[in-house]
Amino acid sequence: MAEVQHADVVIVGGGSAAHESAVAAKYYGADKVILLEKAPESQSGGNARFSGTGFRWAFDLDDLREITDTSVEDFANVVVKPYSAELFKADLNRVSQGRMDPEIVDVLVDDSNMAIKWAKEMGIEWVLQPGFEKNGKRYLTSAGVEIHPRNLGDGMTNGLSQLKQWDTIAERLGVEKRYDSKVIGFIGDELGIEGVRVNGPDGEYEIRAGAVIVAAGGFQANPEMRAKYLGPNADLMKVRGSRHNTGEVLKMLLALGVMPSGHWQTGHATPIDGTAPIVESGDDVNRYIYPWGVSLDVNGKRFFDEGEAESAYTYAKTGWAVQRQLMSRAFWFGDSRTWEQSPTFPLWHRPDTAIWADSLEELAQIVGLDPKAVRATIDEFNAAIDTSIPFNRDERDGRHTVGLTPDKSNWAQAIEKGPFYVIPVTGGLTFTFGGVTINRDSQVIAVGGKPIPGLFASGDILGIFFHNYPAMTGQTRNLVFGRRAGQNAAALVAKAMA
Ligand SMILES: Cc1cc2nc3c(=O)[nH]c(=O)nc-3n(C[C@H](O)[C@H](O)[C@H](O)COP(=O)(O)OP(=O)(O)OC[C@H]3O[C@@H](n4cnc5c(N)ncnc54)[C@H](O)[C@@H]3O)c2cc1C
Repeated sequence: MAEVQHADVVIVGGGSAAHESAVAAKYYGADKVILLEKAPESQSGGNARFSGTGFRWAFDLDDLREITDTSVEDFANVVVKPYSAELFKADLNRVSQGRMDPEIVDVLVDDSNMAIKWAKEMGIEWVLQPGFEKNGKRYLTSAGVEIHPRNLGDGMTNGLSQLKQWDTIAERLGVEKRYDSKVIGFIGDELGIEGVRVNGPDGEYEIRAGAVIVAAGGFQANPEMRAKYLGPNADLMKVRGSRHNTGEVLKMLLALGVMPSGHWQTGHATPIDGTAPIVESGDDVNRYIYPWGVSLDVNGKRFFDEGEAESAYTYAKTGWAVQRQLMSRAFWFGDSRTWEQSPTFPLWHRPDTAIWADSLEELAQIVGLDPKAVRATIDEFNAAIDTSIPFNRDERDGRHTVGLTPDKSNWAQAIEKGPFYVIPVTGGLTFTFGGVTINRDSQVIAVGGKPIPGLFASGDILGIFFHNYPAMTGQTRNLVFGRRAGQNAAALVAKAMA
């Protein structure tokens, strides 16, 4: 017989959604809260560990200044627009092609401001994104994504900074955290969940609990599930984040009768350096400079509209555009002018790995493309630009090409001012969109539509996104639904004890 332990609330997972859920459960009154992380401590923390953890939220300018403790004088030098709840909802609905559950959109957006403030109250320190400097002013131009948790120390990415901050808060509140503790089963069924089975450092045991919150991430690091759900050769795809997001908790929940939702045949995938490692490549290999130049496939042809919108609204689907090319390879070409014009802030940075040469033909040869094909495509592109429209880096300028397939909708500029660069890229999977259904209280829903008593969820394991994603919504989703999961789990436990 396996040992049986008891808790009020058990959290399955060790990433940001798990920490936020655990802190909320404690804060809202649960006594014994245990967080179970499958990974050893040295590899713990899920995807946030590899990320810049920017947060998208609805704010006005006073909110932004106050949440980041920026003085009135310093804030006077910041050029930034407010981001309303209406804009946030419109962005979600547009990029998901209207497929998101309207109730989930409402909760995610309407809670975002309060949840960011709640996180500050818990102890999270927020800072402004770096933006870029121009004429003594600091420009923050990516609507809605202007904050991230403070970077705590030398060499520490913001992701680790955020996790460390949540970890400290969780410890202060008394959350018990266990590493090397893989959840291998649920106790109960769709009529009610009463606990989990754990494979821990000392063997198997059970935890009986008043509520269980699942925050075990997506299935992006599982090649079998990638092949099954994401299409041809997705099993070979490179993964940007944690190796531990292998989807077994999601499989257990589906077997239990949980209602699947979200876009199972896709996920968040961005262009990353062609030489990136196959897993845990993080933000250093992001290659998001494509809106400024042209993007060619292995035949030297353009294959998507690089200027459809700011990369914050296209990067999460551009990884797929690259992945679907022959050999899952593509090439970002540009010249010294597009390089200068591209924004410099870290996530969209100008990579050291760009290859430079005095001619496009030379570059084509270096990366194994047909120099004549590259020359012909770029000549045709240069000739198709409507030069009557002025170029403006800081907004969608409508400076487009005419008569190409595909056309470039914004920021079209002749690639003609040497030296020239090329950046070989491939697709990098960030997280998957297929997952479990929840309601506004973060309760997990069974096939048929009823909530499963005692079971809550947050994070990448939720199936809420479709097609594409506005940058930095994942962390906000974790916080909003993690806070609700923790609060409702604590309330359920309190009710059972009353
Ligand atoms: C490079 C990169 C950059 C990103 N940048 C941003 C950004 O700036 N802003 C943003 O909003 N989003 C960003 N994201 C996405 C965001 O990081 C994720 O959406 C988010 O971290 C998911 O959090 P999560 O807690 O749901 O899952 P994860 O962080 O993936 O955590 C899942 C956890 O569950 C554990 N686990 C899995 N199975 C089990 C099991 N059987 N038992 C126990 N534990 C288990 C795993 O070990 C892991 O700790 C980025 C992602 C990456 C990879």
